[in-house]
Amino acid sequence: MKHLCKILVLSASLFMHPAWSEHHPLDKRISGEVIRVIDGDTIVVLDQDQRRHKIRLAEIDTPEKSQAFGNQAKKALSEKIFGKNVVVAYTDYDRYDRILGKIRYDGRLINHEMVEEGWAWHYRKYSDDEELAGAEDNARKSLLGLWNGKNPIPPWEYRHSTRDKSDSISEANEKRVEPGSLTHWLNTGSGVRHNKRCRWFSNTKRGKLAGPNGGRACGNCGG
Ligand SMILES: [Zn+2]
Repeated sequence: MKHLCKILVLSASLFMHPAWSEHHPLDKRISGEVIRVIDGDTIVVLDQDQRRHKIRLAEIDTPEKSQAFGNQAKKALSEKIFGKNVVVAYTDYDRYDRILGKIRYDGRLINHEMVEEGWAWHYRKYSDDEELAGAEDNARKSLLGLWNGKNPIPPWEYRHSTRDKSDSISEANEKRVEPGSLTHWLNTGSGVRHNKRCRWFSNTKRGKLAGPNGGRACGNCGG
């Protein structure tokens, strides 16, 4: 009975979830061998029919190869699944026609592990998964992986800044201030300052890198 209740509650909450009706989350599956790890969040899987599928790991974003920790993120993913048989659950494709998938191997959810171990950011723009948000918070606090680096820049911001340098907040600031003194993040919308272990560091709608005295301290991280 206890189990039945759980199942009923679970399925009810699935159907009530707004994303369910729109996307039917993760209703398709591929299984096969990981024959290539392109970077920390992209792999190639060869299925039983010898078809190749390029998979972008859903809901996470790892540093670009030219960024600090990009190669380590790739290595971490390789060590987990290269040459292994994985299951990919997905519904969507991204704009490069890659499958956006969740990778399961040996009962583990690899996307989550990458965040837990500090090799990936939770890709908030495309995911409201609270477990992933929490995993990122924990990794930040423990200074795991990329969080041990100086001023980690979110990959989506980095890509943006390499596309259009004049538009990049961090680049503009680096010209004015010594890079070493920009240890905090100032939300220029609210005027709140975050330290680099905070989930909001480099991650507010408006903001810039700042010194330890700018704005007022975040109630969560202490600024
Ligand atoms: Zn904060």
